[in-house]
Amino acid sequence: MTGALPSTVGGPFRVVVAGAGVAGLACVHRLLALARERGLPLRLTVLEAASRPGGVIITDRVDGCVIEGGPDCFVSDKPWGLDLCRRAGLADEIVGTATSHRRSFVYMRGRLLPIPEGYQLLAPSRMLPFTMTPILSLRGKLRAACDLVLPRGPRVPDESLASFVRRRFGQETLERLAQPLLAGIYNADPERLSLRATMPRFLELEQKHRSVILGLLRDRRRSPAAASTGVSGARYPLFVTLRSGLQTLTDRLAASLPPGSLRLGTTMARLEPLADATGREAIAGPAGPVRGASRWRVSTYQGETFEADAAILALPACAAAPLVRPFDERLAHLLTAVPYGSAATVSLVYRRTDVAHPLDGFGFVVPRCENRRLVACSFSSVKFPGRAPGDRVLLRAFLDGKTSEGADPARLERIVRDELRDILGIASAPLLVRSYVFARAMAQYEVGHLERVQAVEERLARHAGLALAGNGLRGVGLPDCVRSGELAADSVLATARVVSLAR
Ligand SMILES: Cc1cc2nc3c(=O)[nH]c(=O)nc-3n(C[C@H](O)[C@H](O)[C@H](O)COP(=O)(O)OP(=O)(O)OC[C@H]3O[C@@H](n4cnc5c(N)ncnc54)[C@H](O)[C@@H]3O)c2cc1C
Repeated sequence: MTGALPSTVGGPFRVVVAGAGVAGLACVHRLLALARERGLPLRLTVLEAASRPGGVIITDRVDGCVIEGGPDCFVSDKPWGLDLCRRAGLADEIVGTATSHRRSFVYMRGRLLPIPEGYQLLAPSRMLPFTMTPILSLRGKLRAACDLVLPRGPRVPDESLASFVRRRFGQETLERLAQPLLAGIYNADPERLSLRATMPRFLELEQKHRSVILGLLRDRRRSPAAASTGVSGARYPLFVTLRSGLQTLTDRLAASLPPGSLRLGTTMARLEPLADATGREAIAGPAGPVRGASRWRVSTYQGETFEADAAILALPACAAAPLVRPFDERLAHLLTAVPYGSAATVSLVYRRTDVAHPLDGFGFVVPRCENRRLVACSFSSVKFPGRAPGDRVLLRAFLDGKTSEGADPARLERIVRDELRDILGIASAPLLVRSYVFARAMAQYEVGHLERVQAVEERLARHAGLALAGNGLRGVGLPDCVRSGELAADSVLATARVVSLAR
């Protein structure tokens, strides 16, 4: 959005933001920066149901360890996360993954087997390591190589990730490599996840090159820098984090809010459109006429009421749905159709001497067909510098919704310790354990998701001064959530111009 905004007549432009996770905080950071730049008086109220800002971003610093409860890193090829860290004055805090042991393992029948170098989530980008891996049978490898000669798939509106991998590379590659690697990211069933909404790059490779493997090989040839940095299953050079943990970012953003604007322990209970200031049915928006309210009344469960010119719901889609239902049943229905899964992480600190495994990788994933309760485990103190003192190791286990829902921390610890005893041979008690449960926190973009997103955006265009942000629509990763918050800020400030003209 460009151009100077006129100051609103009759008082500041009032914005209420619900949710102080990274999306809400990125949103208010941008609102404040743009308002300052354009001389727009702004009155900001940020409602956060929890007693702390940050949402699922939680860092605990205990006994010299940096323990991440939720996300532990983010990709740098989507620039919004990194840019926000830099703008928040945290450039010196940004660190990449360790340069040694850049590989991960797959657990199979009692052993940890290295993921073949160059294997990228759904497909191999290097053939030699793929042909040598013991993870797949000869038959499985031959089936995967069929991708080189198979024609393009039929053009369909959308397809599941599982269907795509099965079609191009076969069931074995799906079960032993793609499914566990995807579970480590989405914690969801690839039979249901949308290819177009989660991994569109692979569909583009097929459409452009016919063979996904040939497409990846050509990409590698075009980008030798990526090849020389050992791009592999997780493309490790792309991942970054903050030295003192990701909560440093959300703490910094929260601390930069105007005094009194962040209300912790305050839950938005009701959102109510009021007739626009002039009483007209529709007002001119930047993209044509905008119908509906341009003023909002917000009530909280704590008994407060605010009036605002704009309301931004930086919430999981399932939490935003009940708030919009009273004035837009269809929008609520679309938001409810985005399922949310639960997850838990359990971080354990051990003496290095208590772990027999060499920990010569960043961690491992567990295929569902192994019937274990662990989804994945990161060797956090190997993956990132400064996560634990030199004589300790920090491991972080990832559990799915079925195991984590309703489980108390003691039970989660017991499950993880049993699993780590079997898989890594750790018999000793950990020096420290921290468990974190995230109920309905991970959005699952199912087949048809992008059509739903488009329908949501069409409904939103009817409501001047209402915007959504967060992980429910256009990306679950931290950079995408930051971007969603920034775009929401842009969109409501676009209505500031309209509101000021209408007043
Ligand atoms: C265990 C786990 C690991 C992850 N790992 C990674 C990773 O390594 N890299 C990565 O990029 N991404 C990762 N993600 C995804 C990413 O962290 C999230 O998608 C992102 O942080 C979500 O941010 P958000 O602001 O949209 O939502 P949230 O963090 O969920 O914040 C929403 C906030 O809204 C508040 N709220 C809810 N309802 C109301 C209401 N009615 N009124 C007021 N406040 C309300 C909540 O209390 C919460 O604080 C992970 C997610 C989880 C759960």
